[in-house]
Amino acid sequence: MMNTMMNQDELFKNLISHSKEYGFIFPSSEIYDGLAAVYDYGQLGALLKNNIREYWWRSMVQLHDNIVGIDAAIFMHPTVWKASGHVDAFNDPLIDNKDSKKRYRADQLIEEHLQKISDKIEKEIEKAQKRFGESFNRQLFVETNPRVLEYKQKLETLTTRYNRALNNNDLVDLKNIIDEEKIVCPISGTCNWTEVRQFNLMFSTQIGSVSAEADKIYLRPETAQGIFVNFLNVYKTGRMKIPFGIAQTGKAFRNEIVARQFIFRMREFEQMEMQFFVKPGEELQWFEYWKQTRLAWHKALGIDDEYYRYHDHEKLAHYANAATDIEFRFPFGFKELEGIHSRTDFDLSAHQQYSGKKLQYFDADTNESYVPYVIETSIGLDRMFLAILSYAYTEEKLEDGTQRVVLRIPYVLAPIKVAVLPLVKRDGMPEKAREILHMLQPYYFCQYDEKDTIGRRYRRQDAIGTPLCVTIDQNTLENNIVTVRHRDTMKQDNVHINELKNYIYEYIAIEPLLQKLHQHARVLA
Ligand code: ATP
Repeated sequence: MMNTMMNQDELFKNLISHSKEYGFIFPSSEIYDGLAAVYDYGQLGALLKNNIREYWWRSMVQLHDNIVGIDAAIFMHPTVWKASGHVDAFNDPLIDNKDSKKRYRADQLIEEHLQKISDKIEKEIEKAQKRFGESFNRQLFVETNPRVLEYKQKLETLTTRYNRALNNNDLVDLKNIIDEEKIVCPISGTCNWTEVRQFNLMFSTQIGSVSAEADKIYLRPETAQGIFVNFLNVYKTGRMKIPFGIAQTGKAFRNEIVARQFIFRMREFEQMEMQFFVKPGEELQWFEYWKQTRLAWHKALGIDDEYYRYHDHEKLAHYANAATDIEFRFPFGFKELEGIHSRTDFDLSAHQQYSGKKLQYFDADTNESYVPYVIETSIGLDRMFLAILSYAYTEEKLEDGTQRVVLRIPYVLAPIKVAVLPLVKRDGMPEKAREILHMLQPYYFCQYDEKDTIGRRYRRQDAIGTPLCVTIDQNTLENNIVTVRHRDTMKQDNVHINELKNYIYEYIAIEPLLQKLHQHARVLA
C-alpha cells in the first residue's frame, strides 16, 4: 500500500480532488467560484451521507426501546438562544493580521504555539533515544534534561495563563500572549496584529415581512436545543420513563471565523445528537455507558483501533461535570469527531426559568418531581463523512506493478453496493446483465457499466468504493453462474443467480452490524 509512504498533506489534497472528480463533494455554487466553507454533496456523496445517517439513526432509535427520534425546525423562538447561553457566550476571539489581511482565531493561534513547544519536547526525546539506543531511560531523561525541563516549565506556565485568559474572557491577555510569544501569521510571517475581539458565531435573519430588531431570529447553531424545548412534549406523549433519550439529526449553522480543512469545519453542517435524560446522581454512570457505547459504534465499522482515542476534558464548561471527545486520526492529525458531555440540569433548568414552564419529570416510584440530568452525544455527520473517506482513500500498488486508487469504505456504508458488468458488449451479455440488474435494484443500489475493458471498469468501481462487482460472461449465459469480485481482496467467487441476492446480503447488510451493537449495549446496561 502506498499511503504510508505519501506525505499526509499530499494525501489530503488527493482525497479532496478525488471526492470532487467522482461526485462525492463539490464546492457550493462552484460556477460562481464557490462559497467559503460551504459544500454540496454530489450523486455518490449524498448516498454515503444517507448511509452514515441511517447507521446512526437505527443504532440509536431502533436498537433502544427508550430512545425516540424527532425532527425539530431550524428556526426557533429567539429566547431559546438567550436561555441556552448562545446569545451571550457563543463567541470566538478573533484577530486579524494587518499585512496578510487574514483572520484567525486567537485561541487557535495560541494552541498551535503550545503544540509546537510540546513537539519540541518530543523531538528532544527522540534525538536522545537515537543517541542512547537500548540503554535509554525515558523517564529519567524527561526529569533531568535541562532543555526538556525548560520547555516543560514554559509550556506549563503558558498553558495556565492561556486557560485563565480564556475562562475570564480576558482578550487583552490573549493579545499579550500572542505579542510576547512572537506568534506570527503563517501567511505574512509578521507579528503585525490587530486587537483581539469577540465574535458571535450565530447567523441571524428576520422572520416575517417587516424587518425590525424584535423579529430577529437565528439559524440554530446546534440541534440540541430543539430536543430540550420538546422534552415535555415527548415525555408526555411518548409515555417515556427515565432514563430515556431523544435523538435528532439535522442542519446547524455557525459563522466559523476560520474555516479550513475541507468539510472538517463548515459554516453549514449536519449534526446527529442524542440527549439522554437521567436521574440526578446517576449521570456519571450513564456518561461512562455512552462513552463506551459510542466508541463501540465507531469501531463496529471495522476501522482499526489506532484511528480512535478519547480526549477527556480537563477544562469543563461551567455547566458540565464530565466531558470527553472521541478523536479520529484525520490526515492532519487527531481531531474531535464526536463529543460526549454530562450537561447536568443546565439546559432544562434554564428553559424552565426563561419560559416559566415546569420542565420536570415525575417519578411515580418515589412520588418526587425533578429536573432530569442530561448526557449528550453529539457528532458531526460531515465530519464523520470525512473520517470515513480519509480512512478509505488508498493509493495501492498491485502485485503486477500497476496502481489503483481504492476507497475502502466499510461495506455497509458504501454508496453503490453492486456493479453489474457484462464481460463484453455482445453475445447477449448486456441483455442478461440488465435482467440481473433489474432483479437486484429493488434491494441494493447498483450501477450498470458496459463501457471499456473489464479491468478498467473494476478500477472505476474501486475508485468509488463499490464492494462487489458482478460479471456476466459465457458461463452466465449457459449456466446462470456469475462471477462476484470483491473490492478489497480482488478475489472472485462463482455464484448462481438464484443465490446472488442472499450472497450479496451477507457482505453488505447493516442488520448484522446492528445485532452486534445490540449485544454490546445489553452487556453494558
Ligand atoms: P470545535 O471545537 O471543533 O469547534 P465544538 O466543540 O464546538 O467543535 P460541538 O459544539 O461539541 O463542537 O459540536 C459537536 C460536533 O459537531 C463536533 O464534534 C463536530 O463533529 C461537529 N461540528 C461542530 N462544528 C462543526 C463545523 N463547523 N463543521 C462541521 N462539523 C462541526
